[in-house]
Amino acid sequence: MSKKELIPEIYVYCDRWCEHCSFTKHCEIFDPADQEKDWGEADAEEFIQELTAKFEKTMSLLKNEADANGMNWNQLVADAKEVELEDPILPAHHEEVIALAGAYRRQVTVWLTVNAKEIEETTVIHAQNAEMGIENAQEKNIQYIDALEVIQWYHCLIEAKVRRAISGLNNDFEETQDDKSQSHANGCAKITMLFIQKSIQAWEQVSKEMTGQEDKILDHLAALSRLSGKIQKIFPLHAAFIRPGFDTFIP
Ligand code: SF4
Repeated sequence: MSKKELIPEIYVYCDRWCEHCSFTKHCEIFDPADQEKDWGEADAEEFIQELTAKFEKTMSLLKNEADANGMNWNQLVADAKEVELEDPILPAHHEEVIALAGAYRRQVTVWLTVNAKEIEETTVIHAQNAEMGIENAQEKNIQYIDALEVIQWYHCLIEAKVRRAISGLNNDFEETQDDKSQSHANGCAKITMLFIQKSIQAWEQVSKEMTGQEDKILDHLAALSRLSGKIQKIFPLHAAFIRPGFDTFIP
């Protein structure tokens, strides 16, 4: 991968779903080995070694970035050690949005667990329909499985990213920019909204195949809709944030 092809910080505002990413060759932290590795089979020591290696790689990237910008890395590290980080006290409506995202994560985790059998049975029915030559059965099954994967992938990320957005907004260290829309908080809010939109579409797809789950799915959609409305109010400029690569790349 040549330096020229890399897009700086593209990985900060992505969904970390590398196997679906069309920017892997522009991403400094993409590692093809991660895609082949089955972490479910790795032992704890191997996993920790891998995490340590990733942390060291990230620190090395940050150091290079500091050097390139004429900053003294050792001084930055020394300053950071002296700063006593405290969780900012959040306004009630900011706490509320984090709580909503946490509630959505929990309710989806429970739904996926409780309905695992029905989910599997639905895919089996689709597969049998496809074998019988029923029109669009295979396509429907792919869309259904894709939608479930989307729900599963984003239900935790929504909470993680909304926390980061709110924390950025309340953090004294958040850099002030001339263009307010380009704050890190707005970037995190923007990707949170993208995760919410994708999750809403996915739930709508799943509801077509699991009609008995309509009420529960409506609960999930209502939670996402509430969350989206609150994020919109707290981060009115989020949509204008320009994500490196995803919003700037011209092939
Ligand atoms: S930018 Fe793409 S390749 Fe890089 S970490 Fe994000 S999803 Fe993975």
